[in-house]
Amino acid sequence: MFGIYAPELDVARLTYFALYALQHRGQESAGIASSDGSHIITLRDTGLVSQVFDEEKLRGLTGNMSVGHVRYSTTGSSGWENTQPIYRADHHMIALAHNGNLINAVELHAELREEGITFRSTSDSEIIAALVSNSTAETIADAVAEIMPRLAGAFSTVICNKEMVVGFRDPNGLRPLALGQIPTPDGGARYCFASESSAFDIIGAKFLREVEPGEMIALTEGGMEVTMVVPGERKAFCVFEHIYFARPDTHLEGQLVQQSRGRMGEILWREAPVEADMVVAVPDSGNPAAKGLSRASGIPMDDGLIKNRYVGRTFIQPGQELRKLGLRMKFTPLPEIVSGQRLIVVDDSIVRGNTTRQIIGMLKEAGAAEVHLRISAPPIRNSCHYGIDMSTNEQMIAYGRTVEEIAAELGADSLAYISLEGVYEAIRGERGEHCDACFSGEYPLADTDRATGKFALEELSPLPQATNGNGAHEPVAALETVSPIQ
Ligand code: SF4
Repeated sequence: MFGIYAPELDVARLTYFALYALQHRGQESAGIASSDGSHIITLRDTGLVSQVFDEEKLRGLTGNMSVGHVRYSTTGSSGWENTQPIYRADHHMIALAHNGNLINAVELHAELREEGITFRSTSDSEIIAALVSNSTAETIADAVAEIMPRLAGAFSTVICNKEMVVGFRDPNGLRPLALGQIPTPDGGARYCFASESSAFDIIGAKFLREVEPGEMIALTEGGMEVTMVVPGERKAFCVFEHIYFARPDTHLEGQLVQQSRGRMGEILWREAPVEADMVVAVPDSGNPAAKGLSRASGIPMDDGLIKNRYVGRTFIQPGQELRKLGLRMKFTPLPEIVSGQRLIVVDDSIVRGNTTRQIIGMLKEAGAAEVHLRISAPPIRNSCHYGIDMSTNEQMIAYGRTVEEIAAELGADSLAYISLEGVYEAIRGERGEHCDACFSGEYPLADTDRATGKFALEELSPLPQATNGNGAHEPVAALETVSPIQ
């Protein structure tokens, strides 16, 4: 997710480059909305950033400000209708990009439908868009301040209209949102938002700070206006961002992710040493922790597994079947390196276990004498309701199993996970300021159990008809075939 206000710069192109840097956060769809002060042009489609945009399309996205999004679905299917930025033109004409997951989506959806508001997608993000767009507040910043208290769950969000770009973050700060500053040719500076600070590096912007939980920042012609809208009672930043999700070159809570993950590897060795000849990372996710473990143990590291760089993350492709098929294309073991060796194989997490089971099988087929698995996350036994799609508890390999049972299930000679205390030591953070519910089962937000399944809005309100945001109804099939340029 990205947002920028900079009339002096090619905002759509900058957004495009920033989305490239953020591609790991979502591979189902990509979109950019630009506003030139009188119109908003939105271009969004399923696919990767490089598949959705080309030179001609970028040239069409002129404007003073822009918001962009890459999606992987946590509420709603991965079809075109759920791509972002979401465009609505009820009272306010807006384009919105959202990262997170509302836990009161079903209640809000029902309330809004009762008020006669219609939807043309099944994502919770359109609920935020509908609330802001229908507000009669004077500006969209006022509208955001008015509606933020109604939202529950995780919502790092950027919105633009014809005058400003507004970025805001939920009061618990579950998902990241960073503020950056970019120089302009006249020697001045403008501001931008990104899910991760690494997006700023690629466009020559400087990382200023994280948007605070509960804070709203409006970027306008006059600069930046900061408002604390809903002061949070408890910070609950997602610890899984440090472990798995964020890019290694991103800074989270003052720590470079690559270094935190390296410390996780060191701690993992301290907590669970084992006799072995070689450390092998599951690339790329296991690389930093494997380096840390190798450093701490003195056991040399080598590349026993090669990754095809052009295949996406298996974890964030929707559906079990796709995930299974994706894997064989992704890794190749090197028998010349692993044969006869006792390996410590390091990865950053295990969710369903399909990937890990196949990797261990491939390494043993390639002649590895022993495979000792070390994981730089604790066992994942609980679903995430705050914006990471981990599916149901039953699909998780650690659910209802002991570590020994999981090792047997995966075919590993031994298995150890880092402790939760070890994770907090590595990220130099306090447990009371984070969410670790997928590991601990302790959900930091009251009433998290009202969060419903991924397809709750589809079930509640299938889309027999859709509207163009002005209340005009169109059949869904027609929406699917019209040009995505609005
Ligand atoms: S449940 Fe896990 S993945 Fe979800 S926000 Fe909490 S720590 Fe992050």
